Amino acid sequence: MNHFINNNDHVPDSGQYIEVLNPCTAEVVGRCARGNGLDVNFALESAQKAFRKWKKQPTAQRVKLQHAVAQLMRKNAEELGGILANELGRPIAGCIHEIGRSADLLDFYAEEALRLKGEIPLHNLEGEKALVVREPIGVMVSITPFNYPITLLCMKIGAALPVGCTVVAKPSEDTPLSTLRLAELFKEAGYPEGVLNVITGYGHEIGNALIEHPITSKVAFTGGTATGKRIGALAASLNKRITLELGGQSPVIVCEDADLAIACPAIVKHAFANSGQFCYRVNRMYVHATIYEQFVEQIVKLTQKIKVGFPFDGVDMGPLVNQKIYQNSELQVADALNKGATVRTGGKRLTGEMYDRGWFFPPTVIADANPGMKIMTEETFGPVVGVMKFSTIDEAISLANDSDYGLAAYVFSQQLGTGLRIAEELEAGSVWVNNIHRSYQDVPFGGVKQSGVGREKGHYGLEAYTELKTIYLNY
Ligand code: NAD
Repeated sequence: MNHFINNNDHVPDSGQYIEVLNPCTAEVVGRCARGNGLDVNFALESAQKAFRKWKKQPTAQRVKLQHAVAQLMRKNAEELGGILANELGRPIAGCIHEIGRSADLLDFYAEEALRLKGEIPLHNLEGEKALVVREPIGVMVSITPFNYPITLLCMKIGAALPVGCTVVAKPSEDTPLSTLRLAELFKEAGYPEGVLNVITGYGHEIGNALIEHPITSKVAFTGGTATGKRIGALAASLNKRITLELGGQSPVIVCEDADLAIACPAIVKHAFANSGQFCYRVNRMYVHATIYEQFVEQIVKLTQKIKVGFPFDGVDMGPLVNQKIYQNSELQVADALNKGATVRTGGKRLTGEMYDRGWFFPPTVIADANPGMKIMTEETFGPVVGVMKFSTIDEAISLANDSDYGLAAYVFSQQLGTGLRIAEELEAGSVWVNNIHRSYQDVPFGGVKQSGVGREKGHYGLEAYTELKTIYLNY
């Protein structure tokens, strides 16, 4: 597929394309344009031209379009989900669910955009007033990773478009096809030319051009911490606004009085969703010594029930997206074994006719882990978890916080006071107490420490695409 610019197919200047592979079979499922600086320039100029008119549209008009595209997404969820399943390898039900959830997010942001307000301070100065208003930031560049390509894109454009920004979106080179198809739905919904443009290619080839370009006012990035830091540094050097949603290594603390019948299924589900390619998945577990064995047994049993295979075969889990992501899992298991851990289930690449051509790693539980192991310190982005014991709550909190990351954390204790105390002390952008479910649309999501800068979702997400302006009135 070509770039999508000005509501049209745009042949890449390079004349080159990148093959998109099915991670189950290594078969080519499509191709996307390999962009260069000239394509970037054209996309940004188109977005800039559109911005002049788009920002002057009544908010209600922009909101109406956003609801219309959300409806189209629901109508086309099976098709879009199918494209996603083929490029990502995730079971089809999860892919279709991602489309529906993203449509809901667009609807939520649209409603919230209608409620954005400014203010007039009550100074009581005779003949003087100040109006504090919000204006759209301008042209936003969205850069997204492979793991939830539609949700993570919608977290950005769903907030940027209704407040009057226009967008150039760059999806991951691993999963660009679903984003390109989504852009066509925006056109079908009636979005004017240039409001949403999609440019594809390798991040390291076109990233700088997208960020440095004078038209770019804001960069919203979701992806790895190392990439995010490079993008953040470049954007900051040019005073561009940023939102960075980066990596995670999220801990769960399971207290002595935890309800294991709730904790174990919730933790297992969250640790292996999307084959562990999930920024706020449970990565490491700290379990009170008195219930440690019982806990490990229960999560091993549940983990062994997870069926791994092809996305259309009714399985629970697919492969990893590519070799680079796959290798982390192998490496972290080897490191843990070298340092004295035990693999309770999984641990070795899946083989056999069904698995040999893809990047299949089984859901893996590593017990007797310690803080010196990569599984307890580095992001895995794969289906491997580490479990270790603790004796006191202070020890558990200190182990959980001993991390560069701070995206999410989890705690299980039937004493709400204990749960809340731990939640308050955990260094994370979001903490779940006594169950784990997906993040809500109306509350902020984002990280502390190396997990990011800024927040998405809720009115916080929308405000991040506006700039405050003060107008002084004398009368
Ligand atoms: P990645 O950082 O390799 O790539 C993400 C995007 O950045 C891709 O579109 C890529 O092409 C682009 N990119 C790469 N180099 C670039 C550069 N120099 N300039 C500009 N763009 C560049 O990440 P990935 O492997 O696709 O995704 C996995 C990572 O994403 C994990 O670390 C995960 O934790 C993170 N993630 C974070 C969140 C969150 O909300 N915090 C959500 C999902 C994923």
